[in-house]
Amino acid sequence: MAHGNETPEQSLDPQDWGEIRALGHRMVDEMLDLLEHVRDEPVWKPMPDEVRARLRESVPLDPLGAEAAYEDFRRDVLPYRMGSIHPRFWGWVIGTGTPLGMLADMLASGLNPNVGGADHSAPLVETQVIDWLKTMLGYPAEASGLLVSGGSMANFVGLAVARHARAGFDVRKLGLQSDHPRLVLYASNQTHSSVQRAVELLGLGSDSLRFILVNADYQIEIAALEAAIAQDRAAGYRPFCIVGNAGTVGVGAFDDLNTLADISAREGLWFHVDGAFGALAALSPELSHLTSGMERADSVAFDLHKWMYIPFEAGCTLVHDRHAHYQTFTLTPDYLKHATRGLAAGEVWLSDLGVQLSRGFRALKVWMSLKEHGSRKYGEMVRQNVAQAAYLAELVEAAPQLENLAPVPLNIVCLRYKADGLDESQLNALNEELLIRVHESGVAVPSTITIAGKSGLRVCITNHRTTRADLDLFVREVVRMGEALAAEMMAQPV
Ligand SMILES: *Cc1c(COP(=O)(O)O)cnc(C)c1O
Repeated sequence: MAHGNETPEQSLDPQDWGEIRALGHRMVDEMLDLLEHVRDEPVWKPMPDEVRARLRESVPLDPLGAEAAYEDFRRDVLPYRMGSIHPRFWGWVIGTGTPLGMLADMLASGLNPNVGGADHSAPLVETQVIDWLKTMLGYPAEASGLLVSGGSMANFVGLAVARHARAGFDVRKLGLQSDHPRLVLYASNQTHSSVQRAVELLGLGSDSLRFILVNADYQIEIAALEAAIAQDRAAGYRPFCIVGNAGTVGVGAFDDLNTLADISAREGLWFHVDGAFGALAALSPELSHLTSGMERADSVAFDLHKWMYIPFEAGCTLVHDRHAHYQTFTLTPDYLKHATRGLAAGEVWLSDLGVQLSRGFRALKVWMSLKEHGSRKYGEMVRQNVAQAAYLAELVEAAPQLENLAPVPLNIVCLRYKADGLDESQLNALNEELLIRVHESGVAVPSTITIAGKSGLRVCITNHRTTRADLDLFVREVVRMGEALAAEMMAQPV
């Protein structure tokens, strides 16, 4: 019988550090090569069936080794990437990432701290990043904040604090199953689905989220909002929150945030802003008028992995009332007791401010990126993307075969191909097929949009690699592919 001390002990470290070092250097070189020359590659390509099949194989029981694992990555993962690193990726709202951001993620994983709290460098780096972000967005210095996975979690955290602070009873203890008036909140009908998801997960019920109509500029209708609040009060409900948009996901519209802040103050409501990507417009002196009023919000949710180009995942919630933020989440069982000295020291741990206890070191890539470029550069990049969107809208305007489907207040252009002799439903079919062909050609990745029943292509530029020449090429190719498609459709017997 083997005794414990006779069994050779194992670890997951390499047996040969020289080998992993060489492999690591190769990975860095090859990834930087890819990033340097990604413009010459297709944005996206479909994945062959044999690759899909390999991605369904069962877990290896025995070691393949680090090098084989990397070769599998090169064969099955790398070539079929999303394409978000490419200068002509403009689908949904997706950031580009940066080389230093990638390397910082490596360093963060190398140190592998748990950033839930305690007295080590990582929570202090995160706290410094939060302080920087407050300054950059013009948000009050006394606020608290937390880095989270992204805008969805940032909205969840902000709305959780809103519910806690404005329910009018101890919602943590009693929950929503107690006998209290229904809590209701308001947001425009352009609001991102993550707000509804948060409302559902907070137990409020999606019926409690009142979707308010928008005006021609896609901003919440103030009169309709006020009427809805009055109506809910008359019905005995408890309005508790208004959600304002700083950059709607559809067209990039900004609600009138100052007026929403006024109404919230007058009505005693929490004011939350979803600024997932649009909040970053505050970084540009030329655009910061758009976010005016955001600094008055009780909470603001935004992403760094979209318009700050930080690698996924990085989002942030800022909360004006630090006490309310802390009180919403803190729970300190014995095993998490905060000490006054030693590693476990710290009055407030970051895990007291959100859902996660164990937390990764996502702050490092933000901290290093802001040191690398300085905050001003990010404002310039945001402004450049907005100018590029305006440029694209002009190209569309000038092309007889194309039309803009919506105003372009920010960095999003919604366009479609139009052709004489096709009715609206045929045009919709054409544009839906056109989008797929654009993807499959590898030329560019826009996403879909339907505005007032018209289907089109949506280009959202949160991409620091895009140039005007990319937009020229895109328009040329869309017109070319659109013409071919229109000719095919007209040749078809009806
Ligand atoms: C992307 C987005 C979200 C969700 O953010 P994730 O980072 O994807 O979780 C919320 N609101 C708006 C306006 C967005 O664009």
